[in-house]
Parts: sequence; structure tokens; C-alpha cells
Amino acid sequence: MKVSYWYNNQDIRTEEVPTPIPGPKEMLIKVISCGICGSDIVEWYRLPRAPLVQGHEIGAEIVAVGSSVKKYKPGDRVFIPPKIPCGKCFYCLNEHYPQCTEIKERLPGGFAEYILVPEIFVENGTYLLPKNITYDQSTFIEPLACVVRAQRLAGIKNNDSVLIIGCGMSGLLHVKLAKTKGCKLIAVDVNKKKLEIAARMGADIIIDSVDEVAARLIAENGKKADVVLLCAAAEQALEQAWKCVDKGGKIVLFAVPGPDRNVVVPVNDFWMKEMSILTSYYCGPPDIIEAMKLIESGNIIVDDLITHWLPLADIAYGFQLVSEGRESIKVIIKP
Ligand SMILES: [Zn+2]
Ligand SMILES: [Zn+2]
Repeated sequence: MKVSYWYNNQDIRTEEVPTPIPGPKEMLIKVISCGICGSDIVEWYRLPRAPLVQGHEIGAEIVAVGSSVKKYKPGDRVFIPPKIPCGKCFYCLNEHYPQCTEIKERLPGGFAEYILVPEIFVENGTYLLPKNITYDQSTFIEPLACVVRAQRLAGIKNNDSVLIIGCGMSGLLHVKLAKTKGCKLIAVDVNKKKLEIAARMGADIIIDSVDEVAARLIAENGKKADVVLLCAAAEQALEQAWKCVDKGGKIVLFAVPGPDRNVVVPVNDFWMKEMSILTSYYCGPPDIIEAMKLIESGNIIVDDLITHWLPLADIAYGFQLVSEGRESIKVIIKP
């Protein structure tokens, strides 16, 4: 089978390796669709594990199961997340699933023709796709679950004014989800095309980030934002977030600048105005279930976010598209 090893964004090598044979408690799945995530191109985050097979947004079909696997059979359509929290440790019991201390194994990456699914994922981490979730839509389950989690942590509710900085894939999913909650949505980006897309997908106000964002926000919204969702890694975006959050409001760091950046937080301002900074990293099982329901019910449409389908042979081009972020929103690899 073919597997793509990622060394860095400029160096991705597709190689032929033997197709694995599942042990008694394992199974083999064929990757039909696998999304390139914005986090896949973040080198400071991924390089420590390189070379690695990336791809954690999968839609797959089971092709073989081990002799003791009874729950699943060949032909079943599945989504499997990259990590499975234990559900029993202190962090899991407090719903900080992404901080689970018992995660020892990851699902091998989906930029490959097949994935050998380890026992723990067979036991406790495989989600059968409902009939009306396609393989392509399945690639949105994990990113939408992360968005669900971030908005829940921020307590986003009806009538909140929500400012979304960065209208890539996750920013647009935030627009779509907050829209279902009856929020007033303001989208900010450097890219005019992406702002137009954000408007089509439900943003009430769009602001070019070269403008005086805070001033435009106040002029058009009547006040600063109750919640700011930061979905861009540029430091200027972070500065805009500080300037745009209202008194008593919240900033959610959904994306962050790299670790080599020194970020200065105006803590006195935050203290006096009772503003908070939250972070949201990855997702947990309840978020995955919620994301699947949102896609299955059609409450969140995801198909209109897909801009490219590429074969595994063109994965380097896919990474280039996502890194540039100009022409693409969601790039799906079809191994
Ligand atoms: Zn992802
Ligand atoms: Zn745990």
C-alpha cells in the first residue's frame, strides 16, 4: 500500500510499504477520504514527531477484522479519531478529555491507503457513520467537534455578538455553528474572498483586517464583541482580539502564534474589565457525538467548504494549498 511520510511542509514522501494484516483484536480500514487540517501544516507543532504519517480527519471503510472482533464487519463505514481518552482519569472525569494522562497510542495517519486500527480504537474509539454522512463529510467530524468544544467552553448563547478572526476552515465552521445558536456574527480576515464566503455562510458583518477592526466593530455592532474566537495564528490577529473583546467578554484561543513569539497580554485591562482568555485544544467524545449529530441532521452543512479533492500522489500540492490558504478552504485527499 502507499503511505505518505511528512518530514516538513516541503518534504513529503509517498512510499510503498506492505499492507498490514490485522491481529485478532485489530482491524484494517481503507481510507476513502482524509482532510488536510490547518494543524497539519503547523511545523512547530508537528516537527517533533517527524517523519510521521499525518491525517486525522478520516472517512473510512472496514476491509478486514481480526478473529475476535465482533462489533464490526467488513463493509462498515467508520470515523475514528486520532486519540481516545480513557474516560476514567482525573482529567477525563472533569471533561478535560484532551488532557487525558492515559493516552499512549495514536491512530496511524490517514494519508495512506489503509490504516491498521489498534485494539484500543476497535474497543472504544470507532464511530459507525450514519447512512447520510458521506466519507467526505466524515472528514469534518473531528474539526467540527473541536469547534463544538470551543463554543461550549465559551458558553456562546443566543444573541451573543461573536467576532471570528480568521476565516479558514475552522473559522467558517465557527460561523456556521454560532449561526445555529442565533448569534450576531462578525468575521475578520485579510482575504477578501474568504470574507465573501463568510458572509455567504452566515456572517452578519465582515471586516477586512487592514481596517481599524475595533472601530468598525463598534460602529456596526454598537459595542465590542461578547466572544472573540481567534482562528488565526498571526500576532496581529491576537492584538485585534484584545482590542475587540467587550467588558465581561471572552477570548477563545482556538489558534495561537508559534512558541517563538512573545505575546504580551494587557492583564490590567483584562482585570479591570473582567475579561477572560480561554483556550480550546482538540475535542472529546461528547463533542464528536455532537458534531456527528449536527452533520447528520443537516443543521451544519459542510459540503460547501470543500474546494479540492486530490489523490495521495498530489499530497505535497495539497499541503502547499493549505499553507498558502488563498485558494483553498478544505482540501480532501482521496487515497
Ligand atoms: Zn483537524
Ligand atoms: Zn483520561
